[in-house]
Formats: sequence, C-alpha cells, structure tokens
Amino acid sequence: MQGDELIRRDLAALWHPCTQMHDHETVPLVPVARGEGAWLVGHDGRRYLDAISSWWTNLFGHAHPRIAAAIAAQAHALEQVIFAGFTHEPAVQLAERLLALAPPGLARVFYADNGSAAVEVALKMSFHYWSNRGEPARTRFIALTGGYHGETLGALAVGDTGLYRDAYAPLLMQRLLAPSPDAYDAQPGEDAEQTALCRLQDLRALLERHAHEVCAVIVEPLVQCAGGMRMHHPRYLTGLRALCDAYRVHLIADEIAVGFGRTGTLFACEQAPSAHPGGPTGITPDFLCLSKGITGGFLPFAAVLATADVYAAFYAEYNAGKAFLHSHSYTGNPLACRAALATLDLFGEQPVLEHNRTLAARLAARLAPLREHPHVADVRQTGLIAAVELVADKTSRTPFPAHERRGLRARLDALSRGVALRPLGDVIYAMPPYCTTPDEIDLIAGAIAHGIEAACR
Ligand SMILES: *Cc1c(COP(=O)(O)O)cnc(C)c1O
Repeated sequence: MQGDELIRRDLAALWHPCTQMHDHETVPLVPVARGEGAWLVGHDGRRYLDAISSWWTNLFGHAHPRIAAAIAAQAHALEQVIFAGFTHEPAVQLAERLLALAPPGLARVFYADNGSAAVEVALKMSFHYWSNRGEPARTRFIALTGGYHGETLGALAVGDTGLYRDAYAPLLMQRLLAPSPDAYDAQPGEDAEQTALCRLQDLRALLERHAHEVCAVIVEPLVQCAGGMRMHHPRYLTGLRALCDAYRVHLIADEIAVGFGRTGTLFACEQAPSAHPGGPTGITPDFLCLSKGITGGFLPFAAVLATADVYAAFYAEYNAGKAFLHSHSYTGNPLACRAALATLDLFGEQPVLEHNRTLAARLAARLAPLREHPHVADVRQTGLIAAVELVADKTSRTPFPAHERRGLRARLDALSRGVALRPLGDVIYAMPPYCTTPDEIDLIAGAIAHGIEAACR
C-alpha cells in the first residue's frame, strides 16, 4: 500500500491513542513500513530517528534479529497457554531471572500484559494483603503530585497528570497526594537533595495522619516521566523506604518507564544511597512494577515482583478465601516471555549500562548550551532520559499558554529533520534506544535545538 492510501484508510477507520483525531487534518500521520535499529522507515523511504524509543518501549533497536528469532521459534513451539493450572519454560526462566536481577528481597513474580495492568495488580495485591492480615480498613493509596501510573481507572486514580485524569475524575477512587520531590520546584538556594528531604517531611506528616487507612505509597523512582520528565534526588527513595517501614505501609515502585537501564542502573531503586554510612545502596520496594522495555519493545507484557511477606499473606487453605484474584487471558504469554528472555540475554552479553553512560554524557554535553536559551527554564537528565523545559518567561518560569502548542511545533520541525520526538506539552525530551550511535545522539540534540528555535519563533 502506498503511504498516502494508508493514511486515508487509517483516518477513515481508526482511532489513535493520546490523540485529538481532528489534529490530523493538519498534523501529518507518519506511515511506517519498517524499523531498523534506532530508525523508523516510512512508506516513502524517509527515515526517522526514534528518539523516544517508541513511547519508551524499545531498548536495543527495532526488529532486533535476536529478539525476533526468539519470538519466531517460540511461536512454532507454543504460542499461548492458559496460565492457571498450566506452566511453561519461558515463564519459569523469566521469573527466575527477574528475581535474580531485581533488588534483594523480592521473591515472587506475577505477570500481566501492560503497564497499567501491572499497577492494578500492585494496588489490588496491597489492599488484599492488608485485608488478609486483618486490616480491611486500609483502602487508600498515597501518590505523588505529577505522577503517572497508566490509564485504566485504578491506575488513573493514583496518577496526577491533569491532562489524562481530569476528564475521568468522577469515576476515580480518592487517593491522598503527597507533594513530589521534583527538583524543578526547588526553592531559591535549595538543591535537589534539600528539596527531597523537605518533601519527605511532608510525606511524614501525611502518614502521621493517615497511615492507618493507607495500603501503600506509589512512586515513579527518580523520574516522573509522563508528568513532564521531572526528576528528583535519589535520597528521596531512601527516606521513602524508611517512612513506609516506620508507618507500616507498602511501597510500590513503578519502574515501568525507568526500569531496564534507563536511568543508569538496571533498576532506578538501586540508586538510593544507603541510610547508614557504609551500608548497601539501593532500596527494595514491596512491589516492583515492570513493563515497557521488558520485551525490548516487541510485545505487550508486564511483571509485578513482590516480597515473600506479601506472598505469604495470600497462601492459605482454599476455603480461607485468601487467594489473589486477578487474571488476564494472556497472563504469562510464552511469546512475550521469550522476547523478555532474549532482551535479558542482550543485557548479559553487552556492557549496556557502561555504553549508556557514554551516550548519556554525549547527550548532556550537546544539550547543555540550550540552558542559555531565553525560553529554556531547565535542561535536566537522568541516564538516557534528557528533557528541556520551554517557558514563556525564563525568570518567573511562566509557561507558554497551552493553546500555542509550542511543543507540537518543535515536534513537527524535528520530524522534518528526520527525528521523531513526542514532547509532553512544552517539555521536549529524548529517550533514545540503547543502540543509538554517538553521531545519532548529535542528530537528536541538533533536532531538539532547531525544534526549540522553531517553537519559540
Ligand atoms: C507507561 C507507564 C504506565 C502504563 O503502562 P501502559 O503499558 O501504557 O499501560 C505506568 N506507569 C508508568 C510510570 C508509565 O510510564
């Protein structure tokens, strides 16, 4: 099919996510014929560097031959099987490997098939844990301002990104909100660490009043991604773990976006500094939610890792009625498990984290000059997530009026230069695949700089 025909038929039959379809009267829809490494290839042969890893899912490049072959081989052996009462090798191997790689203390793996579903699983499991333990009055969750955990109703309820949430607010359970440790909100003269410590005091005050009715605190460790790539100091995680222990509530780490090497470590939780001098770094959440990059960007899949204590609260005689109740038809899909295993193989065979550090340093160096731009309020980065925040007024950090859609203008300009971006409002960010070359990093940074010029004209 020709690109033009594909677009015409798409717009006659389809409804796309996160899109006001009316926009496509003016904003071009990009028909993609194939992917090669970090590149998307259009029907007309035009190439676009996938600087956002196709919504943060792709790790090692598109159509990676190793992952593709693993899926194909599995498809010829066992494509899917009911996961209640039956099991299979890819599911078992993957669970064992995830537990070996994850923070110590996580002991069980529950599969789901997308990120929002993983969050639903963690929320339900936490609530049900307390109920099984004789504390059914715990029905609430604490979430952070600016957080995002997906778009099913439970996941939306613990989110705080107005854009996605407001329209459905009447349908959602009432979460408690603690202020985000976002370093962008630092008071004058305060550094990111001090901001984090202040926000821990706020959280302590909230727990002091509400812990008895709270199941868990849910957090995106290090980077609140969909909320605008807002970043915080890792000390927050150390303090958060301590507060959850002190007030006896669960900690849910949503590493759906930041997991699998994005932030410089395999999991972001590993970067929490030790609470005691000389102690081990890293924290272990009670629940760790993983998705997006878990299959290298090939198939929808998710896993929730939980502690032995959580698991034990559900383990009882059938008639005790304590079993966890959450099932998806495609739970533990063998193709997805194989894709995830092949992805972990790639982590095992290459110095991925070291390589990413080199790429991250290059990206940081190339974006640094943008700090001088009169409409750039902030250039920030954690690992291979870099963001540039545009504002109307640099001193007061007053945003541009939303209807001016500066971010969209930057995106269209970058697209014309062969770089695919997807700004979050006026936050232009790069989250490239790990196979990106240093020259391609320069291309991305150049397209962001040009895009910002175009957006601010
Ligand atoms: C993307 C995302 C989700 C939701 O995952 P989906 O697969 O899109 O449902 C949840 N939490 C975070 C932090 C995410 O970035």
